[in-house]
Amino acid sequence: MLKHTLVTSAFLLAACQAAPVATGQPPNPQLPSSMDFADPTQNLSITKVAPGLSYVMGRNVSSNTIVLDTPQGAVIIDTSRPPASKAHFDLLQKNGVTKAAYVILTHGHGDHTGGVVLWKGIGAKVVAQESFSEFLGYQRMLAGFFGRRNAAQFQFAGSGGAASAAAPAQSGPAPNVLGIVPDITFRDAMDLDVGGVKVQLLHTPGETPDHLTVWIPSLKAAMLGDNFYESFPNMYTLRGTRPRWPLDYINSLDKVLALEPEIVIPSHGPAITGKDNIKAQLTRMRNAIVYVHDAVLKGMNQGKDVHTLMREIKLPPELDVGEGYGKISWSVRGIYEGYAGWFSGDAAEMFPEGRSSVSPDLVKLAGGPKAIADEAMKLVAAGKLVEALHMTSIGIEGAPDDKDVLRARVAAFEALVKASSNRNELGWLNQGLAEAKKALE
Ligand SMILES: [Zn+2]
Repeated sequence: MLKHTLVTSAFLLAACQAAPVATGQPPNPQLPSSMDFADPTQNLSITKVAPGLSYVMGRNVSSNTIVLDTPQGAVIIDTSRPPASKAHFDLLQKNGVTKAAYVILTHGHGDHTGGVVLWKGIGAKVVAQESFSEFLGYQRMLAGFFGRRNAAQFQFAGSGGAASAAAPAQSGPAPNVLGIVPDITFRDAMDLDVGGVKVQLLHTPGETPDHLTVWIPSLKAAMLGDNFYESFPNMYTLRGTRPRWPLDYINSLDKVLALEPEIVIPSHGPAITGKDNIKAQLTRMRNAIVYVHDAVLKGMNQGKDVHTLMREIKLPPELDVGEGYGKISWSVRGIYEGYAGWFSGDAAEMFPEGRSSVSPDLVKLAGGPKAIADEAMKLVAAGKLVEALHMTSIGIEGAPDDKDVLRARVAAFEALVKASSNRNELGWLNQGLAEAKKALE
């Protein structure tokens, strides 16, 4: 237990230390509504989807809290992340959800498990798929790494989130999310009878190996966690992940499609209703994943390198599901390297000396850091923002702390932030911007 506590505090500490102040609100309205930068404790409401089935929609990468009423008490599906988890809990309590029979976790990510302790406090037993504990163990083992990486990617500090001084203090017990021990687990499928309401659980791996889908036969409602949301899936997440296998997503979406749901509530974003509408949306997502997967395999077998495929593979318009959260190019690389690992075939990559070993020479050859900075600024002016960023990366490697290079780097980041419409990309751009500005001070 002590170990768990330490790891959790290390995570929180890392979040507090590393999270920079985000530079105002992100500009792009194309972000999915559940992945905006809003204060996740504000403007919450309960949406009723069917008799006895409702949810509080999470904001700012906090999961929804989904509620099924039964005569035995509520069945809670996912619990959001602090501080939203407490806000969801309080809102539902105020609206009569005062007794819980079960809390079912669609998977072991922190944005879904943050309120478990609250629901346990009013009687809920915790239900998860069998590999949940192994998956938490993996996150625990790398808690220091993920602490820093999550803080950079999600930028909660500057967005009214968990680490923000402006956000309401987290009240109630601090949830030890990496130490959750489920009361009930299952392997492939399990039925629960909750006060006469049948609740079926299916193992549907995808975003994580422990993913499950909750199926309520009487309502024809499926709750499928993060295997579907308003964007191409984040099949490789930049904060770091083991491979998320596309064939798992495809098989799991097929499993859900075979149920012919009339209601789908994902764990992020709004509910989807209507049998035909659901079939169309889930099938489009499934086919988009198939398309990208097959294109990667084809390119790999043709001998194409990963960057070529990252640039080349684009979804046809009829399969375009948006890239507000996951990105095709990251998924391409995730699939490529998931199957083949990191070595590209360039012999220089076999050795521990990376590009930085020649960057000082490159900077000298270019005429010094000022020449690199001038070139980078020209690239910014020409709209070649990624190239400008690369130029400053070499400049920094060659001449650490050079002010001209850092100023060019800030300019490149600022322009990239303005142009971005992806939640995770914005996180890392804001992180890079904050670091460059700090180095300039
Ligand atoms: Zn999630």
